[in-house]
Amino acid sequence: MTDLRESTSPAVADGVPQRRELLTEIPGPRSRALHARKQAAVADGVGTTLPVYIARAGGGVLQDVDGNSLIDLGSGIAVVNVGNANPRVVARVTEQVQQFTHTCFMVTPYEGYVAVCEALARLTPGDHAKKSALFNSGAEAVENAVKIARVATGRDAVVVFDHAYHGRTNLTMAMTAKSMPYKHGFGPFAGEVYRAPMSYPFREPVPISGAEAARRAISVIDKQVGADEVAAVVIEPIQGEGGFVVPAPGFLPAIAQWCTENGIVFVADEIQTGFGRTGTLFACDDEGVVPDLITTAKGIAGGLPLAAVTGRAELMDAVHAGGLGGTYGGNPVACAAALGALESLEEDDLAGRAAAIGRTMLDRLSALAGQHAQIGDVRGRGAMVAIELVVPGSTDPDPAEAARISAACHQQGVLTLTCGTFGNVLRFLPPLVIDDALLAEALDVLESAVAGD
Ligand SMILES: *Cc1c(COP(=O)(O)O)cnc(C)c1O
Repeated sequence: MTDLRESTSPAVADGVPQRRELLTEIPGPRSRALHARKQAAVADGVGTTLPVYIARAGGGVLQDVDGNSLIDLGSGIAVVNVGNANPRVVARVTEQVQQFTHTCFMVTPYEGYVAVCEALARLTPGDHAKKSALFNSGAEAVENAVKIARVATGRDAVVVFDHAYHGRTNLTMAMTAKSMPYKHGFGPFAGEVYRAPMSYPFREPVPISGAEAARRAISVIDKQVGADEVAAVVIEPIQGEGGFVVPAPGFLPAIAQWCTENGIVFVADEIQTGFGRTGTLFACDDEGVVPDLITTAKGIAGGLPLAAVTGRAELMDAVHAGGLGGTYGGNPVACAAALGALESLEEDDLAGRAAAIGRTMLDRLSALAGQHAQIGDVRGRGAMVAIELVVPGSTDPDPAEAARISAACHQQGVLTLTCGTFGNVLRFLPPLVIDDALLAEALDVLESAVAGD
């Protein structure tokens, strides 16, 4: 913990030593003072996972206002894949912010927006002709994917899955599965949204293959909605907020194939899984699935707000002129950040790095699960890995145990997040630029937290 090493990675800025160091209790006095101000000024509905206030961050480290350095296993919820203040992002943003900050792309356009759309056409799955439209948030991208699919098909129905998370706007709340806290009291919700059963291997009463799980879902859609009523099937290739649920192999390709056969737009919501996170550029790449439309956000721009819908040119062009857009969508500073982030993703081979991080995490966590019966499942891909906590000897969810372990990690300076329909999943989303020593140290802390010592 006294090691003062600076990172040698080109993706990590100087000045944020890559080490864990606690100078005060967590949260420290300055964070507590800021938190009192937050509680007086910020609406209570805006939650806080860990009330340490951040002063600086980079690589795998968050530095707080009390001088503590925490290991980041959250990446701001899978956003800073390229690391906080990534030098390529900083350089491009600094240059752009000095040139101009906004014109509205729909009024007088600029190159950065076009360059981001060109990059998305190149990087997203499939080599068909693609076009994109840019937005501000993931939820907005999902909303627009539905708008495009409805116009392109002339149909209304949207199919989503159990445990899905697609956002907090009215339409995306309807698409999100979990009531508390995302939907509770916020209805009525948008109509024509239908939910199909997911492939969730750990929670199948009887093990079934991906193909069988797809047949089960398709049967529900066919019988309860009707294939020819369905505009779009929207699915996260690996579910995020719903619990890092990895469907059984074959599930995703079978659903995509059925969509193609029935004229349904297959939308991959890769807002959490995208941009190298799962060890390939996109999670769909793992099984060679080519979505008709793909929604992206979180990892796209190194932390600046940006989102996109990318897809088959003929689908994207189905919408009348002026039908897509928004004041800030594809803001020039956010686009500059995205170009820096995408450059880092490719030049620093961060997808390869995510795959290596995944091997380390899955090895260590599988060994840990062998020693502790409350870890019911270890799953994930690349740098998107989770453990599911259960009452030993059963699959009954144990959210209190997940909360206990997470809080113990926080006290030791490792930022972890929980998720899952049952609140019993501890998820790990390190920045892809975290170094091996820091990752190993974070896993040491986690091991002690699980063991309760
Ligand atoms: C976070 C997330 C969203 C919503 O994105 P926001 O930017 O928070 O609106 C949608 N889908 C998935 C899979 C997500 O993880």
